[in-house]
Amino acid sequence: MAWRWQYSISLNPVNRQHPLFQTAISGCCLNQPPYGLPGTIKHENGFPMSTDRFENSPVSDALESFRARFFPDAALVQWHSWKWQLQHRIDTVKKLRRILELTESESAAFHHGWSKIPFAITPYYMGVVTTMNSDSALRKSMVPTAAEFQVNPGESRDPLVEEKQSPVPAIVHRYPDRVLFLTTHQCAVYCRYCTRARIFSREAPALSRARHWKEGLAYIAATKSIREVIVSGGDPLILANDSLKGLLTELRKISHVQIIRLGTKIPVALPQRITDDLLGMLRSFHPLILSLHVIHPDELTREAAFAIERLADAGIVIGSQTVLLKTINDSTSVIQKLMENLLRLRVRPYALFQCDPILGSDHFRTSLDKGIEIIEDLRRQTSGYAIPHFIADPPGGKVTLAPNTIVAKTLSGYRLKNWRGEEIEYPDPSSGEP
Ligand code: SF4
Repeated sequence: MAWRWQYSISLNPVNRQHPLFQTAISGCCLNQPPYGLPGTIKHENGFPMSTDRFENSPVSDALESFRARFFPDAALVQWHSWKWQLQHRIDTVKKLRRILELTESESAAFHHGWSKIPFAITPYYMGVVTTMNSDSALRKSMVPTAAEFQVNPGESRDPLVEEKQSPVPAIVHRYPDRVLFLTTHQCAVYCRYCTRARIFSREAPALSRARHWKEGLAYIAATKSIREVIVSGGDPLILANDSLKGLLTELRKISHVQIIRLGTKIPVALPQRITDDLLGMLRSFHPLILSLHVIHPDELTREAAFAIERLADAGIVIGSQTVLLKTINDSTSVIQKLMENLLRLRVRPYALFQCDPILGSDHFRTSLDKGIEIIEDLRRQTSGYAIPHFIADPPGGKVTLAPNTIVAKTLSGYRLKNWRGEEIEYPDPSSGEP
């Protein structure tokens, strides 16, 4: 049976006075003054121009109307600045009500008290949520509802048991050759289904570069089996260029680290972050893989597509990771459109994740059958390049789930099921051998 849980401080948002916020963002862009940014070269419309900017982006008509309606004082140059976007996030219920009429369940969530996950949405992504997504699917992924406070059996604050596999606070070491490097507790937007929701709680230790990054780097340097480092968080692309560059530089000094992977939602939640400066910096750390967290085709606006193509042009290998979410994207048509559109942007559809059972996630979780059914449909309807792996992530490591295509082992080989569902005999050289 579900039970309710609550804390005593407000759900409202990224609480800037909160000690977690204050310490976690050391080195984060939010710590910098809004103006006089590094790389500033001149002013335009009273706002500093900088190479750390999103130049020449196309603008979606609907988002332009959204900007004119809700942020009439923001010039286009400001709207295209990732730092302006972060400084003007919708992060209180008052700001949210200016844009959306809240449902009873959403209002109840804000009155309920502190949630495990902060609330903040960039103006750009708020425009996507409200104008590009007609079925309100993305709204459910961003705006808390009362359902978030209902905890059910089987749910856990750390469903992947990452804390037990954490030799030092910034590192999760689950597989011999890979580690997760937790760089920050900050994101551009906060997904209500976040697997790592626990890091946003008041009790979670803040991450500091001086101590935790250093310990993490020392652990990786001392552990020769580590071939790949997944730089994650939070969202590592929210870090200032200098901080991220410093971390990547240190990782590249470790000779056994072959691949660096960045896990991020920023190209779709804050595409303005994909600036010339960032791309120039990232180019010097190849081979780099970017795991793009994207859940719905409506996130692939003209602006997001522009950002993603710039990353691809910079030689970064991009794979997608999508969480399968009830009433948000749990249909073959939505997933197929998303995967095919990603492929057109040179993003390899990589992982479709079963939603992890974090506390208060029941309203997001689909059955495993649903994911397998979607993969089966995709096999009938699209090319293999557009089909991600469907993955569940129980304690102990990821498991790939797929429709069963081996019907039986026979004397001469196998009876297999093809994409049409027809059973066919297939000879196997090893069959019949003594
Ligand atoms: S962007 Fe990633 S880390 Fe941040 S809230 Fe969403 S899922 Fe969690």
